[in-house]
Order: sequence, then structure tokens, then C-alpha cells
Amino acid sequence: MAVSRRDLFRGGFTVTAMSALGAAATPVAVGEARAVARPRIYTCTEWGARAANGTIDVLDRKPTYIVVHHTAGTNATDYTVEHAFQISREIQDFHMDERGWIDTGQQLTNSRGGFVTEGRHRSVEILDGGTRHVQGANVADHNSEIIGIENEGLYTSVDVPQALWDSLVQLVAYIGQQYGIAPSEIRGHRDFNATECPGELLYGRLPELREAVAAAMGVPAPEATRSWPLLKTGARNEKVQALQHLLRAHGFELQADGTFGASTFAAVRRLAEANGVTCQPCYAGRSVDESGFAGVTTWPLLVRTVRAGDTGEVARAAQVLIAARGLRFAPDRVIDIPTWQDLLA
Ligand SMILES: [Zn+2]
Repeated sequence: MAVSRRDLFRGGFTVTAMSALGAAATPVAVGEARAVARPRIYTCTEWGARAANGTIDVLDRKPTYIVVHHTAGTNATDYTVEHAFQISREIQDFHMDERGWIDTGQQLTNSRGGFVTEGRHRSVEILDGGTRHVQGANVADHNSEIIGIENEGLYTSVDVPQALWDSLVQLVAYIGQQYGIAPSEIRGHRDFNATECPGELLYGRLPELREAVAAAMGVPAPEATRSWPLLKTGARNEKVQALQHLLRAHGFELQADGTFGASTFAAVRRLAEANGVTCQPCYAGRSVDESGFAGVTTWPLLVRTVRAGDTGEVARAAQVLIAARGLRFAPDRVIDIPTWQDLLA
């Protein structure tokens, strides 16, 4: 067979070597100089937090990842510090009274006006110390290893205000410096849970955030990181069709029509329930059921290695993705996990 330039894995399809999520964190050599100035962070006392309803867990370890969230609430146009205090109180009330948590879930909150406030009590004191970690509640199954920042607003289709962006860069750089966390370990909530958070727009800017933080810290910019796509109700493309074939391979009866409708949502939800997969929803001024969204916790339950000549629903899922890219499957290659991620990127 003639090998065309567009044959899969043979020039037209770039497979970049990167650390996938779950790989060991890369420690960063920050050096002697402390390059990043400490940002102004308003404490719980300053914004008038309620007392926590229980003991704050302070772990004798540093967090591994810095996680970016959006609150999924209103894109307010009040950019004052008073408003930043107000949303801090609203989030705390919601987390304590509705979610039943002991305190605010996230460690830090960043307002659209660029004001940073402390979330869970003791987060600022412990961050300044740089050796321990206040365990929060913002990324299910990963709270012992992540420090989370809730950014005020909903960034599914609009970009963040410049003031929010600037304060986010400075804050993340300071956290990175305090804990020696490399910019490569900056993640979005959806890199851990099947959630839309932090929104398509803000999530799409994480590579830029890693670069800006690296520059602020005076360390090299990281390579891109592999991830799994987030698919939700209303999506209509070849990735949805591939997902549907994979679900069919697992015994779910639904049509592989490429449209993410109610039957796909229900199947993904049942898959998550059957595997004990949860998601810690972020504060939301709106109520969106994300329990059937397909994301980082969904795909690994479904994909399997595919080789040329394989048949069946899993192979059909791969074929859909390969065809959509105008590629052909080189007969001596296999589609392993990193390749699935590249095909779904
Ligand atoms: Zn989130």
C-alpha cells in the first residue's frame, strides 16, 4: 500500500510526548530568587465569613495541582471589592447550607474585578507557609492533592475580564512559587471530573495561563498536556458518534447518530453511577445537571486498544474519528490510550 502523507502516524498526525494526567508531578526548580510578589488576598475575617462548621483539615503535604474553576454564576458587572466580598459570602452560604460542607469548598476566590479572597478558613495562612495544604471540597476524589481557585462568572461562551485574568496569573504564579508547583500542573476542573467547569473559553486559555505563569515565575513554559474532551447535551459531531459507538460496545442501546441527546446523557449517567464516579459541582447561580456529561472520568471506562483489522463498535468509534480527520489507519499501528486522546483532541 502506498503511504500517503496523510496516513495516520506518518507525518500528517502529530503525536506529541507529554505527561498525561495522573503522571507524577514534575517538581519545578524555582531557584533562589523569589520572583513572584505576594498578591493581596482578602481573608475570611475581612470579608465577613461565618465560622466553619467543623475542623479545617490541614494536610502535612503540599498540593500537587492548581485547579482553575468558574463559579458558573452570573457575569456581574460590579467590579468592586465589596462585590467580591458579597460573592464570597454567597458561595460560603451555598456550600454550607445547600451542600452541607463545613465551610467554603474552594481555597481561593477570584472576582471579575480581580479581587482575590480566601475561601476555606486558614487557606491563606497555610499557603503563605508553603509546606502544608488546607483540604477543601472542590474536585471530587482529588481534594487532598489540589488547591482550587473559583473564578467568578460563567465562561462557556464569553471570555474573562482582563482584571480577572491578570489577578489569576499573579495568584497562580504565587501558589506555584510557594509550593514549587510547575506550570505544567495547572489544570481545569474538567481535567479531573466530568464537568463543564471552568467553561470552554477559560479552559481553552489554560495553555496561555501556563505560559504567563511560567514567565512570571521565571521558569520554562511547559509542553501541552493531553486530556479527554468534555461532551455535553446538544453537541453534534464525530466525537459524540464515537462516544455512542463506545457506549454500544458496553451494552447500551442507543443510536450512533452523532447527536448528544437524552439517551446519550442517560447512558453516560448510568455508566458513571455503575462505576461510582462522582463530580463535586461548583457553586452555581444556575442549576445545570452535569451528571450525564461525558468527560475525563467517562472515556477511560470505554476506550480499548484497537488494531488494524479489528471489528465491532470500539473499532467503529476509532474509524469515525480517523475518517473525520481525513486520515487512514496505517496497518502496523495500534490505537492506544494516548492515541485515542489525540484523535479526540
Ligand atoms: Zn469547578
